[in-house]
Amino acid sequence: MSEQPYSYVRKELVEPDWTRLSGWRDVGSADWFDPQWQRAHCVKTVVGLRGVYGDLLPESFYGDLARDQAERATMSLLLPPYVLNMMAPEQVPDAEAMYADPVRRHMLPVFSDRMTEWPSHPHASRDSLHEADMWVVDGLTHRYPTKVLAELVATCPQYCGHCTRMDLVGNSTPQVPKLKFTVKQSDRYDAMLDYLRRTPSVRDVVVSGGDVANVPWRRLADFVGALLEIDNIRDIRLASKALMDLPQHWLTDEARRTVEQLATTARERGVSLAVHTHVNSARQVTPHNAKAARTLLELGVRDVRNQGVLMRGVNDSGHALLDLCFSLLDGAGVLPYYFYMCDMIPNAEHWRLPLHQVQALQHAIMGYLPGFATPRIVCDVPFVGKRWVHQVDSYDRTRGISYWTKNYLTSLERDDPYALARTYEYYDPIHTLDEEGQDWWRERAAALVTTSTGRSDHE
Ligand code: SF4
Repeated sequence: MSEQPYSYVRKELVEPDWTRLSGWRDVGSADWFDPQWQRAHCVKTVVGLRGVYGDLLPESFYGDLARDQAERATMSLLLPPYVLNMMAPEQVPDAEAMYADPVRRHMLPVFSDRMTEWPSHPHASRDSLHEADMWVVDGLTHRYPTKVLAELVATCPQYCGHCTRMDLVGNSTPQVPKLKFTVKQSDRYDAMLDYLRRTPSVRDVVVSGGDVANVPWRRLADFVGALLEIDNIRDIRLASKALMDLPQHWLTDEARRTVEQLATTARERGVSLAVHTHVNSARQVTPHNAKAARTLLELGVRDVRNQGVLMRGVNDSGHALLDLCFSLLDGAGVLPYYFYMCDMIPNAEHWRLPLHQVQALQHAIMGYLPGFATPRIVCDVPFVGKRWVHQVDSYDRTRGISYWTKNYLTSLERDDPYALARTYEYYDPIHTLDEEGQDWWRERAAALVTTSTGRSDHE
């Protein structure tokens, strides 16, 4: 009999031994599982990374990272020890293991990861989803008819190299000065709540950032408590990648008290309170973050769901995706919910995958997981929103341009009678096209330079 393309084997979750790394040889469990210790010992610089790995990594690796931070990075370094410890977890890491590691590839990008000819797509942009353009008040994006995104803070306990909100989130890098909120935080929150009170067509609020793990518990409780008072709000989703990167934060007494109180009120009012997290690789599901997710469920949160991002070298095979989904579901009680195609931000071409490959990945994962836990793979099309990857209207494979339609207006198009009639474009990474397509883009890029400067760079 032929073998199945994927064989399910239930896997035990493993907490990697942090004392294998020279910088943490003497760190005990009490410190390791303390959120304050984790925050205080985040790696923020190349020097800090050297303090953890020392001679385990060659100078060339540190140089590769330093060059990336100077010339390509859209996010500054901020890695809790808990995240670093997920990289090359089975061994004392060396350069080869670190370069190949899927967690390292998205949380600690280095210069040599990036594409040489097309590090960015010509249509890449800082706020590629135009979220700030759709702010109805500072930090409140109204993109879909019934849903809003509330960005409470512009910081996270960890910064991810591929962050789609790189325009706003985190510290400025040499390449990317960050947008700043201009309105005082408490005034912003009041304005958001006021908008929601007078907009009964909105029923669903994603409370995000950044990461809600950087909102003090008292403030988060006040904001979510106020949402629970608004009759039209029926779904609230708290977004925290830190649930899996800094699970210690979600396991303190204060966290448990706050979550239990909010979940109880939500249940009494018939509101669904869920937590959304962001895991991209099976090795990021550990016993401790599984404990944090299961604790939320025990405290009354309706669901913990995962929204991962598809990236080359991280999770770009059916096996990798199914391993991740089963680890989440069986190990941590987390629902695999969505995988997003990596957005068209600058310097992301080495991560991005072409649409046809992503469609094949959706096909590869069908039929193994329960239907309710089979994630949809979606493309977040600028000016459209999430579309399932098989919803594409038409697709020019030579040039790598897909065309999408939509069935609702964003807040930018209320006066546009053609918004629902036209198609919207999304672009495959150019290096994945055949020669004809790549040549077309080279000519087009040259023409774009000519148009914008009035003369060709080749003159
Ligand atoms: S946790 Fe989310 S918002 Fe924060 S840097 Fe990562 S992807 Fe961006």
